Amino acid sequence: MNCELCGNDPAQQVLLQSASSRVLWWNHRKINATLCGICAERVFYEQQSRNLIQGWWGPLSALATIWFTGANFLRINEHRRSITEVGTETGFVARPHVKISGNRMAMVISGLALLVIFSIGSSILSAPTPVSEANPDSFISSCWEDMGSDDLKQVACDSDSADYETYQVVDDSSLCMDTYIKAGVQFACLRAKY
Ligand SMILES: [Zn+2]
Repeated sequence: MNCELCGNDPAQQVLLQSASSRVLWWNHRKINATLCGICAERVFYEQQSRNLIQGWWGPLSALATIWFTGANFLRINEHRRSITEVGTETGFVARPHVKISGNRMAMVISGLALLVIFSIGSSILSAPTPVSEANPDSFISSCWEDMGSDDLKQVACDSDSADYETYQVVDDSSLCMDTYIKAGVQFACLRAKY
């Protein structure tokens, strides 16, 4: 079998895909062809660069990027194992292996994108379970940040910004030693958190 792009042999079929984000949709580019070692490396580099530079900018596209980037690595490795040589005018030579880490821009953009994805993920994980006025008990062991002028905002108890925590919910606010917040029809007593 000959390469569909340059006509050289040996060649073998390989599927290499990429995603690029658009504002409201994303674009899938799929190359499924019989390629020689040189052309497969070139298509791999192009598709991987497109993934890592253009793929991150939307939620669906970012998922596709993670999937395609991994799948492309597995498929190019399979192709490298089968097609180890490339034909030149002077005979067969060892096939080159391109490294996507050589694409500086792809590395920098992907590093930033992963940082954003991880920080969104960790802020979702560390968000407090919101209290509910309808269920005063939900105020127990909640933590609050002092926003100034009597405004409190609920925060995660392991957050550095937690200034107060509730230690009990009572019917009569005079049972609180110090300060309290309304918890529906009841009162949640606050104490300073250190
Ligand atoms: Zn070729």
